[in-house]
Amino acid sequence: MSNSPAKMQRRFPREAIQYGDKRIPAAKIECSKCGSVAYHPDTGLNDDDYFRKKGWSVGRGPAADVCSECQKRRPELKVVKMEKPEAPKVEPPREMGREDRRIITDKLDEVYDDKAGSYKAPWTDAAVSRDLGVPRAWVSEVREQFFGPEGGNPEFDAFIEQSAPIIAEMKNMANSLRIQSERFKELEPRISELERMGRRIERELGR
Ligand SMILES: [Zn+2]
Repeated sequence: MSNSPAKMQRRFPREAIQYGDKRIPAAKIECSKCGSVAYHPDTGLNDDDYFRKKGWSVGRGPAADVCSECQKRRPELKVVKMEKPEAPKVEPPREMGREDRRIITDKLDEVYDDKAGSYKAPWTDAAVSRDLGVPRAWVSEVREQFFGPEGGNPEFDAFIEQSAPIIAEMKNMANSLRIQSERFKELEPRISELERMGRRIERELGR
């Protein structure tokens, strides 16, 4: 492997920094990932070498400079990605245990109408499964065994099934609009302020 890229010197922006009680010029490097900065006051070293010694990965240009913290963070992400595909293979489908059965029974006691022989609206096997975070098949099994038919209106069940994620998404959107609207209210008075300032300057310039 050739070492030649190390010899290629980058030009870094210079800034005056406080050093003790005086201001001295220093080369500045900025992390392209997190925006943290480091300075190199004149030590006699090349800027590149100095920043590398301090743990920076010095790229061909500013967009490729990475601080030591961000370099540490990267491999962790890779490890997580590699583990993910393995996980589903290892995990066998869980069987319904005594405790699962009890939790489902308790919930069905609450949401199943014994007299009517169906769920109370808007409950369904799917809704109970979502609510408890258990497979829908378990809910159906316990219901069939100890309660009764699912009942209800299949069309309405389908409607509930399809509308739930949309309603959740709309709630998210509403929330994000609320935040944007608050931000807008903060900025609005400053717009008129800027407009007034603009008109005043226009007048003073005699346009
Ligand atoms: Zn960084």
